[in-house]
Amino acid sequence: MSAQPEVHEFQAETRQLLDLMVHSIYSNKDSFLRELISNASDALDKLRLESLLDKDLDVDTSDLHITLIPDAEKRTLVVADNGIGMTRDEVVGLIGTLARSGTAELRRSLAEAREKGVSDAAAEELIGQFGIGFYSTFMVAEKVTLVTRKAGETTGTRWESTGDGTYTIDDVPDAPQGTSVTLALKPVDTEDHLYDYADKTKLRQLVKRYSDFIAWPIRMDVEKTVPVEKPESESDEDTDKAPETKTVVEAETINSMKALWAKSRSEVSEEEYHEFYRHVSHAWDAPLETITLQAEGTFEYQALLFIPTQPPFDLFMRDSKVGIHLYVKRVFIMDDCAELMPEYLRFVKGVVDAADLSLNVSREILQQDRQIRAIRRRLTKKVISTVTEMRDSRPDDYRTFWDGFGRVFKEGLVNDPDNRDALLKASSFASTHSEEELTTLADYIGRMKSGQDTIYYMTGESRQQIVNSPHMEAFRAKGIEVLVLSDPVDEMWVSAGAEFDGKTFQSIAKGAVDLDADDEDSDDTSKDDQEKAYADLLSWLTTTLSDDVSETRLSSRLTESPACLVGDTFSMSPQLEKLYRASGQQFPKSKRALELNPDHPLVEALNKAYANGDHDKLVPTAKLVYGMAVIAEGGELEDPAEFAKLLAGSLTESFAAGSDS
Ligand code: ADP
Repeated sequence: MSAQPEVHEFQAETRQLLDLMVHSIYSNKDSFLRELISNASDALDKLRLESLLDKDLDVDTSDLHITLIPDAEKRTLVVADNGIGMTRDEVVGLIGTLARSGTAELRRSLAEAREKGVSDAAAEELIGQFGIGFYSTFMVAEKVTLVTRKAGETTGTRWESTGDGTYTIDDVPDAPQGTSVTLALKPVDTEDHLYDYADKTKLRQLVKRYSDFIAWPIRMDVEKTVPVEKPESESDEDTDKAPETKTVVEAETINSMKALWAKSRSEVSEEEYHEFYRHVSHAWDAPLETITLQAEGTFEYQALLFIPTQPPFDLFMRDSKVGIHLYVKRVFIMDDCAELMPEYLRFVKGVVDAADLSLNVSREILQQDRQIRAIRRRLTKKVISTVTEMRDSRPDDYRTFWDGFGRVFKEGLVNDPDNRDALLKASSFASTHSEEELTTLADYIGRMKSGQDTIYYMTGESRQQIVNSPHMEAFRAKGIEVLVLSDPVDEMWVSAGAEFDGKTFQSIAKGAVDLDADDEDSDDTSKDDQEKAYADLLSWLTTTLSDDVSETRLSSRLTESPACLVGDTFSMSPQLEKLYRASGQQFPKSKRALELNPDHPLVEALNKAYANGDHDKLVPTAKLVYGMAVIAEGGELEDPAEFAKLLAGSLTESFAAGSDS
């Protein structure tokens, strides 16, 4: 047995985080209790499930519960459970380190928080985003001691820290099964929102407020004054005396344990829903939307779902999980049940309680289960329609939702063709109609010009790059609205053949766009004349630039720039190519068409020079025109040095020509 506890250092990130916890003026210090109770409740859920699955596990599950033991004199509070417990390795891994991926992300946020100062807002934002569970105890405790023994093991572990740079870890031979966390409380300082957490009235109040719905009994000893019972014979004589009383201590359950998802909406307060959301999602923000669903009939189930306000930091990480917990008749079965929600709705948190599943259902069985599939379909539709309703009735909340989760939501446009219509209806897009406001597709269609039969869009890396691209010129000149799609996922769904209300989507940077066709006073004869006048130059350019372009043609999309590059209708955009390359896929560079603006002075001059002969002298200019088209759309030149050299040569020549005259 190790006589001396081992001393470990916290990782740098953990230390910084603790520092923030210890010193921040984060006002909601009460929430430490919710976190401890939430962890204890999870541990009880896990033990019950484990004992169902593993009949040989030697544990007593007859009285699973949580105990609060305040000691006003010693100024300590113990929160204990007889749940699954932790092994020594788990204590080091889960409690001693931040047991999450994304430490780089956290480091960045911490640095930002420090820059802003350790303010309430900074702490709150960080906590909201990362959900600092166990560590929140250091807001209220000078020292935290955790003693735990894993179900089925004989030796327990003690972990202790004062929240500075180190913690100690130690074997405990006689630890009871489960986990107890003892807080040596900081002095009461109500100005700093530090209340008396050794006070029973306060604790009872906090449990009611934050943890009332917890499905396990939360017990606390209460002193009760009861009359002293006397033998029959004495009772007659003392009738005029006050009855004698004594104080007894009784363990009382202080939460009501009601399963909120089984209640109708009118029976549950908003605050209760919010606290439940925080419990299931391990988050600290408030939900933006609460969704309840109670299905009767062939498949009986209840669902209570939440759309968070703040996107979690790991929303786009590979191991980001689906946030639905599965229960069967109030018994917890598993968390992160991927079978119940499509991946693109992974930000939705909550519980589903299905009445007709077996308690020892496995993930493999779930994947095959008809009922689970039916529930998933229904929940998916419900979430999508809720988003649509939110957009129509609470535009500000919808905007918060869209800014946080829109990019994930749009993954569904690619991955869930069955719901594509509903998803398009619920989605919003940036457009040239307004710089700030987003538009729905229905509103876009409402503003379409007469004769316009497709929804125009352009993809790119940023709004600025897209709206300044030469492809936009004629659309701007003619006042035709274009969707501005700058999320990587946009590339995917627009090329997945989406349609809305019978209208197809067309990229303004792809295919032949004939805006003049929509234009009544366009002049076909002058167009034909131009085609003739430029024919020779165009075919020469196609040959000269054949390494880079598929053809050269006259454009009807340009009004200001001399040239732009246009892909085939079904080609990949340069951004998509870049995405694929970045993910390690190889394929040949795709050539696009070079379109020239026949009314641009440079193009006119080039045509004249071409007619005058000495075509070799025009090669540098041809390359410059191509290079300019690449740069103008925000693209990257393959050989910027060569472009610069050509440009310097051309400028020198024009100065020389200027001084000659
Ligand atoms: P979170 O609860 O958000 O995951 P915490 O820091 O609160 O983060 O806890 C980290 C992990 O430590 C938990 O996910 C759980 O695995 C483990 N843990 C915490 N408290 C207990 C407990 N009372 N019993 C068993 N395991 C626990």
